[in-house]
Amino acid sequence: MAKGTAPGADQDWWALWPGLFRKELAAFPRLEIAPRIVHKKNGVLILEADWPVQGQTEPMLLRIGYSPLHPFFRPAVAAPNATFERHQNPLSRELCLLTQEAGQWDSNQLVADFIQERLEHLLRALKARKDGRWGDAAGLEEQAADPLMPYFLGTSEEDSVILFDGQSGLPPGPYGLMEVVCSSRSSRTGAAFEGVLRQLKTSSGAAVGKRFGFPTESQDAQVLTGRWVKFTPPATTDARELLRLAEEELARQAVMQPGSVRKVNDAARGALCITGIVFPEEVKYGPEKDGAGWVFLVERPALLDGTTGGAPQLVLGERAGKDDIFSRLPVAKSLLPKKAVVVGAGAIGSFAGLELARAGVGEVTFLDFDTVQPGNSLRWPLGRSAWGRSKAAALANFIAENYPWTRASFAQGRLGAAFTDVASLPDGSANVLAPVFDLLRDTDVVVDASASEEVQLALAHHSKRLGVPYVIGYATHGVAGGVVARFLPDGEGCFVCLQEHWKDERIPEPRVDNAGLVIPVGCNAPTFTGGGFDLQEVSLEIVRTAVGLLSSGSYDPGGWTVAVLTLKNEDGFRTLPRWEGHPCPAHPKCCGAKR
Ligand SMILES: [Zn+2]
Ligand SMILES: [Zn+2]
Repeated sequence: MAKGTAPGADQDWWALWPGLFRKELAAFPRLEIAPRIVHKKNGVLILEADWPVQGQTEPMLLRIGYSPLHPFFRPAVAAPNATFERHQNPLSRELCLLTQEAGQWDSNQLVADFIQERLEHLLRALKARKDGRWGDAAGLEEQAADPLMPYFLGTSEEDSVILFDGQSGLPPGPYGLMEVVCSSRSSRTGAAFEGVLRQLKTSSGAAVGKRFGFPTESQDAQVLTGRWVKFTPPATTDARELLRLAEEELARQAVMQPGSVRKVNDAARGALCITGIVFPEEVKYGPEKDGAGWVFLVERPALLDGTTGGAPQLVLGERAGKDDIFSRLPVAKSLLPKKAVVVGAGAIGSFAGLELARAGVGEVTFLDFDTVQPGNSLRWPLGRSAWGRSKAAALANFIAENYPWTRASFAQGRLGAAFTDVASLPDGSANVLAPVFDLLRDTDVVVDASASEEVQLALAHHSKRLGVPYVIGYATHGVAGGVVARFLPDGEGCFVCLQEHWKDERIPEPRVDNAGLVIPVGCNAPTFTGGGFDLQEVSLEIVRTAVGLLSSGSYDPGGWTVAVLTLKNEDGFRTLPRWEGHPCPAHPKCCGAKR
């Protein structure tokens, strides 16, 4: 920095580009507007201007904020004295002159010209809406809903949330009781919780609308009774004011129904009092507000020892129904009723299994014998919280906690392990393999990420016998390459056929780099060096293949049977990941043998 320069001056855009600053200011008088500089310090430039508007006698006061990263970023423009039914943040009064999408702001345009052009556009859109000309409005504005809920976001309680079914509409009736399943959440403030709005009720306790909940609920959850009241609140982040309005609305209802309102108010009194305000909400573009929006208020009345209490808090509501969560991934709809068994929860199977859960596969079961060691974490999805735990159990728990629309389970044990001690046999009279065969019979796909040839040969065989699609994936030594193959019960070749083709060199084998072998302490199998970021290349192709097989046509499974991955060339240099697909016809020594 040059001597004598004020600190930070090299960060002010008007100091970096004085020519641009002059041009920006000069653009206003050309529109016969004389802006006033309200603030120009520490990177922030705010102007005020009286903006002439066509068809209006009085100009509109605009407050124009330049981005500290001007001209790369868009400016913000507020109309503090005007109220628009749309395209204006009711709290900040900022106008939406552009949609939120990227690529809308042209950094070559001067802000004055930008406002002139976009404000006129905005007013035309508002006029079209007002006149009910929805076709015209749709051409002028972003065709998206403009919901009220986000405006309550500002000051809501840190780390707390109440989840509800976004597909259920406004409840009939003006007020009532509600069941909220609450579990505490760790938080800096110590008071945070997650609630699930399970059931709305009338004041006398009769269920209203559908019950909502996830397939599995945490065991320490507590069911609390709260109250709800229906009215459209003003956009404010003042929790005390919202609570006052809710109580005012209930009091208004009490004039007609004193006993019933008292019942609601009494039932909703506890260590955690939850009041829900429900209002008509725009959930899709158009004139109708046919969804329901929620804002929640929470009070913690002081206990005798004075440990809790304090002001009411706003708690964020989030839509968490199946359709709310999976609307971004149409294929998920076809995956929700499907089941996958993931054998081997190591560096490849763990990521693949989690991704299947994320994609919406309804049930994922992990089979593994291993525990998570700190040294695994560099290529395993979970870190310290899972060290020393069973890999299969840790993943299943993680899914249950984070992807509630997927049922996750696990079976621990070494598949096919032989016994030498009768006393060590599991109890019961069933075959020791019965639990595994039950899983295989019941699943829609077997994902084999065991990287064990014994497991692979056995599972490939039994999957075919039981009529289940079998997907196998592994990386080679040194993560020089990998394989993902699928074998369908009615497919031509099988996993053994593939091995024969490899022997014949009719299908290229994945590259191997033996430099990268690590022998761990003790009598363990050699493991390999290589990062999760390379191994996940295989996990992802496993997931794409499995999703393709499970999705009943809504995601293309691809026309190949065997996919061979190359990550390193002959000289051991990294190449861009390259997949090659091959068919796997029946081999004359196996499925193609004449009998
Ligand atoms: Zn808008
Ligand atoms: Zn075969």
